[in-house]
Amino acid sequence: MNWLTNFVRPKIRALVRRKEVPDKLWIKCSDCGQMLHHKAVAEANFVCPECDHHMRLGARDRFKGLFDDGVFAELAVPAVPADPLKFRDSKRYVDRLKDTRAKTGQDDAVVVGRGRMGGHAAVVACQTFEFLGGSMGMAAGEAVIAAARAAIEDDAALIVVTAAGGARMQEGILSLMQMPRTTIAVQMAREAGLPYIVVLTDPTTGGVTASYAMLGDITIAEPGALIGFAGPRVIESTIREQLPDGFQRAEYLLEHGMIDMVVHRHELRETLVRIVGLLRNRDTRMSEVPDIEAADPEPVLPEPEIVEDDAVAVEAIPVESDVEAPDPEDDTVVEVTATDEGEAVDPPEAEPDDIEVPVAVEPVSGDETEVEVEPEAVVDEETPPVDPELEIPEPVAEDGAPKRPDA
Ligand SMILES: [Zn+2]
Repeated sequence: MNWLTNFVRPKIRALVRRKEVPDKLWIKCSDCGQMLHHKAVAEANFVCPECDHHMRLGARDRFKGLFDDGVFAELAVPAVPADPLKFRDSKRYVDRLKDTRAKTGQDDAVVVGRGRMGGHAAVVACQTFEFLGGSMGMAAGEAVIAAARAAIEDDAALIVVTAAGGARMQEGILSLMQMPRTTIAVQMAREAGLPYIVVLTDPTTGGVTASYAMLGDITIAEPGALIGFAGPRVIESTIREQLPDGFQRAEYLLEHGMIDMVVHRHELRETLVRIVGLLRNRDTRMSEVPDIEAADPEPVLPEPEIVEDDAVAVEAIPVESDVEAPDPEDDTVVEVTATDEGEAVDPPEAEPDDIEVPVAVEPVSGDETEVEVEPEAVVDEETPPVDPELEIPEPVAEDGAPKRPDA
């Protein structure tokens, strides 16, 4: 309005703000409630020295603890259209983004760093929960894809550190599209023969769990991290049952086979370096391969032929011998005679195989005294063409097409 409001007041405000700055000096542990000095907590990599609670960690702080000497280069992520849906809830999405960027110093939830871990090339994509709940929007999808491409370019291990409440609602279906996109990105890295390792931190839920978070060759979680698709409260109210203690926590999931290991943040770097080393050490792999190849003759096939000798009795021999002798008596049906002798043979030999064979043949021998045989079988052989199913349609067809219940 005038010189006072436009010029003097902002200046005064700026001065006042500067005095308020000692902002992050003390941090309150969200688990045990202890007030902790920021510096001490930062040195402990944001693990509470009192209760060992793993606090949420920004991407850059995370990188410092992971890469060799904390040295990394941040990867430029392709820009995405801002607010394509012109979304507005209590606040415009554009404004929300602007505020969050100012607060976190990040462009979006996922930041990608490339560097070395234990001397191995590594690309790490890290999700920051502070940035709109780590939600996966177009930018996050783009960052994961860029990370996969960079890993392929560098021939590096791809590591993703997740922390997310799910997809970003303000981008609607465009955020959901990041699920298949990131899945394909992971597949690209896999096809390039690169290890893909996931570190799940508190919390990892929703669409992130439903895509790249669960695709790791190795899946690691930080202690106590909440990991799941729908949250426990939603599940509880849906199935109306009380969930067990520790449900969806890292330790519970390890016990139930969902993840490979739970690793303390202080040991995370060592663990990752060790895993990457195991998966990337090509010299070791190459030396082992030739030994395996050398022992590949093909002796397996002839074995089944040898078995035939033992099984001879089952096939034809008993039946054929029976057939030859009786032939002179009845020329009409060969099989009938076979049963005659089958009867004679059964008592002396008493072999299970012989007993079974005559039973199968007997149907034809219905002429003979044997009552045991099924009469049905005899009928079938005498009148082979007769099938109960075929008889039924005939009467209908005989009179011609017009004769149907309708007519
Ligand atoms: Zn604590």
